[in-house]
This record gives sequence, C-alpha cells and structure tokens, in this order.
Amino acid sequence: MPTNIESIRPQSWQGIDDIVIVGGGLAGLFCALKLAPRPVTVLAAAPIGHGASSAWAQGGIAAAMSPGDTVEKHLADTLAAGAGIVDEKIARLMISEGPDRIRDLLSYGVPFDRGLEGQLLLSREAAHSERRIVRVKGDQAGKAIMEALIAAVRNTPSIRVMEGYVVEELVVEGRFVSGVIARPDAGKSKTRVAFPARAVVMCSGGIGHLYQVTTNPAEARGAGLGMAAKAGAMIADPEFVQFHPTAIDIGRDPAPLATEALRGDGAILVNAAGHRFMTDLHPDAELAPRDVVARGVFAEVKAGRGAFLDCTKAVGAHFRERFPTVYASCMEAGIDPVTQPIPVVPAVHYHMGGVLVDADGKTTVDGLWAAGEVTSTGVHGANRLASNSLLEAVVFAARIAENIKGMLPESTLYEWPKNAGENDELVTLEDSPQLAELRRRMSAEAGVIRSGEGLKTLIRDIARLERENTRIRFSNMVAAAKLIATAAYRREESRGGHFRSDCPYTVESWRHRTYMTLKDAERTAAEIAG
Ligand SMILES: Cc1cc2nc3c(=O)[nH]c(=O)nc-3n(C[C@H](O)[C@H](O)[C@H](O)COP(=O)(O)OP(=O)(O)OC[C@H]3O[C@@H](n4cnc5c(N)ncnc54)[C@H](O)[C@@H]3O)c2cc1C
Repeated sequence: MPTNIESIRPQSWQGIDDIVIVGGGLAGLFCALKLAPRPVTVLAAAPIGHGASSAWAQGGIAAAMSPGDTVEKHLADTLAAGAGIVDEKIARLMISEGPDRIRDLLSYGVPFDRGLEGQLLLSREAAHSERRIVRVKGDQAGKAIMEALIAAVRNTPSIRVMEGYVVEELVVEGRFVSGVIARPDAGKSKTRVAFPARAVVMCSGGIGHLYQVTTNPAEARGAGLGMAAKAGAMIADPEFVQFHPTAIDIGRDPAPLATEALRGDGAILVNAAGHRFMTDLHPDAELAPRDVVARGVFAEVKAGRGAFLDCTKAVGAHFRERFPTVYASCMEAGIDPVTQPIPVVPAVHYHMGGVLVDADGKTTVDGLWAAGEVTSTGVHGANRLASNSLLEAVVFAARIAENIKGMLPESTLYEWPKNAGENDELVTLEDSPQLAELRRRMSAEAGVIRSGEGLKTLIRDIARLERENTRIRFSNMVAAAKLIATAAYRREESRGGHFRSDCPYTVESWRHRTYMTLKDAERTAAEIAG
C-alpha cells in the first residue's frame, strides 16, 4: 500500500459535487457529453484519442436501421453469438436504443457513410443476418467517431479533461466509492492527486495487455476491472475473452488488426501450403463465429503450417482505398496485400466479462458506475457479436448519465482536487520482469485453448508474481488476471470464447453467467495453492 493514503481525509470531501469519469474512450466521452452541462472531470491515462480501443475500431457500430432489419433479428444474432448466456432483456434494451444513439453520434458530427440519397450505408459482418454495420470510409469508424466526440468535448465548457492521469485507486468509505487517486504525467509523476467525487464512472476499457499478443492499446490492462474488484464490486463472466482470429503477425505489440470486414468481403484463410482450412472446420468457413475461426488459425500456427488471410482475389486492387489502415500496417511490414497473403495469428481482442452493472450502469458498490468494455452488462454472454461493443458503450453511457442526473441533484458546491501527497511508488511498469512474465503466462494458459492443469499452474504463478511485485498498478492487473484465471479454472466446459481442451463440450448445467468477487477468486487460488 502507498504510504500517504492516511493523509487523505475523505470526510473533508463531503458535499463535493463532482462526477469523475475514468477513461477518455467512447464510453467516457459519450457519458461526459450526455451529462453536460453538469460539471464532469474526465481522467484519461493518455491524451484523448490515444490509448483507447475506441479510436482503433475498424468495423463500425451495429444498429438495426435498414428497412429489412428489426430488433428481433439483431437480438437473435446477439443471442446466437453469446452461446446461451446472454441476458436477453438487457440485450433487447441495448438493441432497441441503438438507432437513437447512432442519431446522437450523427448530431455530434460523426461522418457515417451515406448513399447518394443521404441514407446511411449499412454493411454486413460475420454472424450478422442483415446489413447493419454503420461505418466510416471502410475501416475508419473508430477514428472518425473519436475525432468528432473529442471536438464536441473540447467545445463543452462543463467537461474538464485531465490527460495523462493514470488512476491507481478507488477511494472507498464503507460501502461508498467517494473518489479516485491518480498519478499525472502518464503515471510518471511522484505526486498523486486525489479527486473527490460524488459519482465515479469507470470507463477504462479492456484487458488485452494482460496477455502477450493483443490488438488493444497498452492502456487496456485490466486496471479498472482490478480497481473495482478491489473496492468490492461484483465481477461477472471474467473467463470469457474474445480472441480476434486475424491479427497481423508481424511481431508488433499491440498487433495490428486485419478487420473482420475483409472476410465479410470474401477474403479466405489459407495455410502455407495454400489449403483453405476453415472449410474443414465449419459450414460457414471464414464467416464462422470468431472463436471457431480463432481456434482454426491457432491450430494451423501451432502445427507450424502458418495461417494467412488471402485478400488478393476478393479485395485485390481496391485494398488501399477500401481498407487504408490495414493496407498501411501491411506495407510497413513489407507485405503488399494486393498481391500477397497476410500472415495472421489470434490475439486478445475483447473482454466479454467485467464489472457487473445493471441496466443503468450501476455497479454493486454505491457511488460507482461503469460503462464500455470494463463492464459486463450481460449483452455479450460467452461471445460478443462483432460491432456490438461500440453500441454497448454508447447505450449504457447514455443511461448512466440519465441515472446520475436523476439520483444526484446538482449542488453548487465544488472543489478542485487536493494533492494526495508524494511517494516513490513505481514510476515505470513497462520494464518490470513480472509484467512480461504475467503476459506470457496468461497467453499460454488462459488463451485460445485452456486446460485445468494449465490454469492451476497459472494461478500459482500469478500468486508468486504478486508476492514479487507489490506495486499498486501491478496489483490492479494481478487482480484482473486472478479473476480471469480462476473463473476459467472453475468453468469445466467449453462455451463461446472459453475453450477447455480437457472439457471440450458445452455442459447444460453451466448454462449460466459467472458472478464472483475478488475474495471468491482468492479463495479458489488459496485452495489450489494448498
Ligand atoms: C483494433 C480494435 C478494433 C475494434 N473494432 C471494433 C468495431 O469495429 N466495432 C466494435 O463495436 N468494437 C470494436 N472493437 C472493440 C471496441 O473498440 C471497444 O470495446 C470499445 O472501444 C471500448 O470502449 P471503451 O470506452 O470502453 O474503452 P477504450 O476506448 O479502450 O477507452 C478506455 C480509456 O480508459 C483509459 N484508461 C485505462 N486505464 C486507465 C487508468 N488506470 N486511468 C485513467 N485512464 C485509464 C484509456 O487511456 C482510454 O482513454 C475493437 C477493438 C480493437 C482493439
């Protein structure tokens, strides 16, 4: 524990009228805009627009808006992807509110692709039965959405954005979260700053960097999940991690992505011998659910046959203009996707599990709300339907804003943050050997294919790494890793994003969500340690 926490007197924070949002991705910024003109402080580990998965989204947002599409059809696809454990009521609510949130984004200036008559152009993606993906210039959706929201946020005087503030702790008083402690200068400052708050909204994104190969930015390291769990929040479905089947395998960290839309447009997966292996594994071949494709690619890579996404026929000469981001990543690595197959590997892409929230984004701890990838609303079940995550981020961020406005009437009291003192806590985490080992071990044992024995050794290793490195930012990551590993160990079946080689079948008695606290995870870890 840091030495100077005692110097903070939470009682002095009472009466503070401030809402603190942790994270400046889509969920955080959308929530801040929806709360305007109420004063809000957004704390973001990196400058907004950077260090957020939202800016990297290539596909787009799913919304049932085309003439032939309905809420029921979008719901049916979402339920099918989620492998039996989607919360149907919550998913229906999200899908029903989707079109209104797309209209909100348009009103903030997002330039979604339109046809000649001004209608939104909707594309189809894997596992969607209709054309319902709202995109911007092929693969530019995330960048364009974030650019528009950042401009709107900068023009909203009630939103104070503090960039480079890495939140390290939630301050808990009894059953209330009453603020956060953050470290400025991208976490390099010796001084920590306390932000007292009547409401904290956690929007810190995913967990990719708990693993060695991921498509997520380095800031997505499970910190928000870990902090909420340490504050006593209930966590749901942590074992369900989605692997993107086609990250571009050129040794970059994070790994660049060959968007799903390429397969939607007819690109095929082949091994080094040119064999189209997905046709052996699933009737939908390359358009099979993500976890099936990820395991197919993983098996080819592991067997030494390699896996390649061949776009030469399906996209060919149009590659540069239709998929500029993917094109640039390939060309940087000396691969011309117009004429050459792209080497691919599965990478951690999305976390279905997270902090349990209700329909209003409330966690089980008072004073703490959460939105976006850090949460588990129940809409994804065991596997996310592509492009439902940006939708989830905006729908629940908007609901949180409504809920907070209703629950916490605005008061006139306001104070600027107090200095939380200095300490010589960790300055850099990146060069820690424990971090490198944690990521390696998570990829090896809690990855695409898991086993009970492997998970046991992983859980013991996590406990050892926690003893070796007691620093707070590492301990947030360790808390998140513990939850994922112990939930994966307990779930003795395979479902959606969770595949156990020692229990390869879906088991009916497991057709339910997982609910666990950090204490539950620690009990399981202690049993395993003997
Ligand atoms: C390459 C890629 C492509 C994707 N494509 C799509 C797609 O086409 N469609 C779709 O629906 N989904 C897609 N996803 C998933 C989707 O982008 C994310 O689920 C979504 O953007 C999450 O939004 P968020 O606001 O919750 O998190 P993020 O956008 O990741 O934002 C998190 C914010 O929290 C900050 N942060 C993290 N930790 C801290 C801390 N300790 N203190 C302070 N700040 C912190 C980060 O810096 C960042 O500002 C994609 C993901 C990736 C990685």
